[in-house]
Amino acid sequence: MPDPILFPGSPLDRADHQRRDSAWIDELLQRDDTRFVALWRLRVLVVQGSEPCIAWATKVVCESMNRDVKEVLLGLWDGVAYFAVDISELKNPEEVLGATGVAKFEDVRAVAQRLPYEQAAIIAHARSRVDWHARHVYCPACGGKTTPRGGGANRVCQSCDAEHFPRTDPVAIAVVSLGDRCLLGRQRGWPARLYSALAGFIESGETLEEAVRREIAEESGIPIGEVRYLASQPWPFASSLMIGCRAEALDDKIKLDTFELEDAAFFERDRVRQALEGDTEGANLILPPPMAIANFLLRSWIAEE
Ligand SMILES: [Zn+2]
Repeated sequence: MPDPILFPGSPLDRADHQRRDSAWIDELLQRDDTRFVALWRLRVLVVQGSEPCIAWATKVVCESMNRDVKEVLLGLWDGVAYFAVDISELKNPEEVLGATGVAKFEDVRAVAQRLPYEQAAIIAHARSRVDWHARHVYCPACGGKTTPRGGGANRVCQSCDAEHFPRTDPVAIAVVSLGDRCLLGRQRGWPARLYSALAGFIESGETLEEAVRREIAEESGIPIGEVRYLASQPWPFASSLMIGCRAEALDDKIKLDTFELEDAAFFERDRVRQALEGDTEGANLILPPPMAIANFLLRSWIAEE
């Protein structure tokens, strides 16, 4: 079987019922063993060295923050509470946290593959949620100020009482096969020779299968028969859910939409296998890294032979 997909597998219990009790949240915030994922401009604090891991902050981090900043309860694990806290307002965050020389803030996409599996899931959750809170300070209905509720589970408008919940944006992504070949495409500006599975946001009023058929037809002109769901992946840039499918092409006559793609082509199975195995020179093809669901979908297709 292909390597597991990165970003699922969080060990945290999101504590849906308990988090309605604000006194309980306040008590968790005061515990010495409570752990905080500190996010600075959406970068995560990581302990440096041969086995990088999240550098957990303690409640001290909250004392250095403006009190308008609210911690987000991510959940519980082995009796310990885990929060995310946005410390973007700090000028020298590593210094304030006493982390200089030991840990540094890193880009989540760049560091995720080097973290323990369950920690990648925790930072995916933390990054999406902190980003959502930062973008929803004002009510989209009336423009009033909003405040977090339920330990950051949602936000409520102080003027009109409207409740706002974090969004997840579904994206359909499909490896389209025709016999021993599969359809891949590339966008302008990608590194040379990099190709991936075609993908697009699912639109209002569409099923997953309809979205796959529409996206593939729009971008490549290829008509699609059967569509089959395989696996999904949270993608915290900013807050998507990648829904991975296999789809069957009905012919191979590509009519490229050059606004969306620079190129699309059918690739032989052996060439895809060669690229997945690391011989990108020999295959003259680069594929997305193992952290991306496109890599998983291609490995699944190869494994089906
Ligand atoms: Zn409002």
